[in-house]
Amino acid sequence: MAEILDGKTVADQIRENVRQEVEILQQQGITPSLHVLLVGEDPASQIYVSSKTRACEEVGIRGVLHTYPDTLTREELLRTIDELNRDPEVDGILVQLPLPGDLPEFEVTLAIDPAKDVDGFHPVNVGLLSMGKAVVKPCTPAGIMELLYYFGIPLKGARAVVIGRSNIVGKPMAQLLLAEHATVTLCHSRTRDLPAVAREADILVAAIGRPGMVDRSFVRDGAVVIDVGVNKLTDAEEVSRFFSSNEKKRSFFERKGYVLIGDVHYDDVEPVASRITPVPGGVGPLTIAMLMKNTLMAARARRNIK
Ligand code: NDP
Repeated sequence: MAEILDGKTVADQIRENVRQEVEILQQQGITPSLHVLLVGEDPASQIYVSSKTRACEEVGIRGVLHTYPDTLTREELLRTIDELNRDPEVDGILVQLPLPGDLPEFEVTLAIDPAKDVDGFHPVNVGLLSMGKAVVKPCTPAGIMELLYYFGIPLKGARAVVIGRSNIVGKPMAQLLLAEHATVTLCHSRTRDLPAVAREADILVAAIGRPGMVDRSFVRDGAVVIDVGVNKLTDAEEVSRFFSSNEKKRSFFERKGYVLIGDVHYDDVEPVASRITPVPGGVGPLTIAMLMKNTLMAARARRNIK
């Protein structure tokens, strides 16, 4: 039986720390602010942005949501970002991705002042991360590091395998593990004999976007397994293979018509892993908690507050 790594407990602690630090800033007349830009009406994005602004409220950060129709032009979006960049009251700017239509995501990422880039996606921040000098770090992998610290998982000299090389999860995850002296292998869709590479891991991170792909053939006995994937499944036949012993998920599916499945086949892997994150309730809650922390860090850094 693996120990379950409960991300919610860690996320609650991060938020509480941020709340206390924000209170100290407020005593100096400073209220950190985060401006979230949402273009279009993608339902998943709407849910994400509202949970971000709600999280702001809970920790005392001023969360401002800017919504635009999907007819917004490139020029209008870049002008808005420029205005927020110049506004001294603004600490964090986040443009919710994906952007609809032809809006250029990379250009938008480049347009955000790196000092206000609380996602940590601007090339300046990516470079600082690789040099071990970043103030803000991409939220999901930074949250996973907090989870590993919290549960005392040894990192120095550990073999870490990350599956997925996206700019927002896989690559920064590898950088952060490397900075903690793990020996890191970064895998992707062209990696040869992926299960054999994964089995070398003391710490295995799956950030793939393929429901249940990581089964026990990927996992060495006693490995720590971190499941980043969030895959919403609605097809009864497809989901049934994840329910062998998981009554809770089955009844959730029967009530709601969907279920969230990670990239790890939890029921198959849990008996061989030493520790494992559930989906939901593992990595997910950490992402928004780290966004709060990044906004606090950006607010401090811009004012040279240590
Ligand atoms: P991307 O689609 O950007 O990247 C997926 C990566 O997985 C790519 O590097 C791809 O390889 C690799 N991959 C795809 N198929 C395979 C395969 N069969 N074998 C090996 N590697 C494969 O996804 P993200 O990084 O944005 O997200 C990954 C998952 O994490 C998703 O489920 C997403 O929903 C979830 N997520 C969860 C968050 C949270 O807060 N919990 C936050 C962000 C993401 P290649 O580069 O070769 O194409």
